[in-house]
Amino acid sequence: GGSIEFSNVTFGYSPEKLVLRNVSFTVPAGKTVAIVGPSGAGKSTIMRLLFRFYDVQTGAILIDGQNIKLVQQQSLRQAIGVVPQDTVLFNNTIFYNIEYAKLGASPDAVYEAARAADIHEKILSFPESYETKVGERGLRLSGGEKQRVAIARTLLKAPIIVLLDEATSALDTHTERNIQAALARVCANRTTIIVAHRLSTIIHADEILVLKEGNIVERGRHDQLVLRD
Ligand code: ADP
Ligand code: ADP
Repeated sequence: GGSIEFSNVTFGYSPEKLVLRNVSFTVPAGKTVAIVGPSGAGKSTIMRLLFRFYDVQTGAILIDGQNIKLVQQQSLRQAIGVVPQDTVLFNNTIFYNIEYAKLGASPDAVYEAARAADIHEKILSFPESYETKVGERGLRLSGGEKQRVAIARTLLKAPIIVLLDEATSALDTHTERNIQAALARVCANRTTIIVAHRLSTIIHADEILVLKEGNIVERGRHDQLVLRD
């Protein structure tokens, strides 16, 4: 499961100013769609609507054919995992930091999630520089590694939909591509992914939607679109 359909969605935070106008798109289950466009285009709003932080004014959002207005908030939150932009890590092992997302998860499941996000080799490290009992220096995690922890946390919860709202945009392009590739590999055909992002660094999307002032102005695959940020 995990197909998403936006059907003629119109939304504004206030009645006088619409932020999305008749937005329609579908993401088949297990596919990745990237939403790109300038700041203020409405990318984050699409994600908030999917999570039902707000309800659409007209149109509908369907997950697996069901209007999300009819889905319990609890089930919706379990179905959708969010990889945040800024990840707060505890001063504890990476293992603990991942396990925290789902207390009671088996150690194998935690390790699997870490491996999928390619952070398993640091599973016993601490996020910040620290001194061990024997006086050795522990390694500090890089920004990319912290985002891998965030992805592992999300994967441990095994959502059917993953949202990344600029979740990797603070990273350098190389690291960002590596992380996108890792996520695409793990989620391939099992988890539906929506990423909001800069066009130039999207490489692993099945479809790209270009959003401007609340309208989808262009859509296609990466090689079909002009590369412009
Ligand atoms: P993007 O993610 O593409 O940068 P957003 O979805 O955050 O765009 O914002 C789209 C528009 O909605 C912008 O004009 C923004 O100022 C406005 N907006 C976003 N959040 C709110 C809010 N909570 N209240 C009022 N207006 C908002
Ligand atoms: P939990 O299972 O603990 O509710 P979720 O992954 O479902 O964890 O959501 C964690 C939190 O992420 C939500 O409670 C909300 O505060 C935040 N969140 C969800 N969607 C968005 C979004 N599109 N933009 C920003 N924050 C979000």
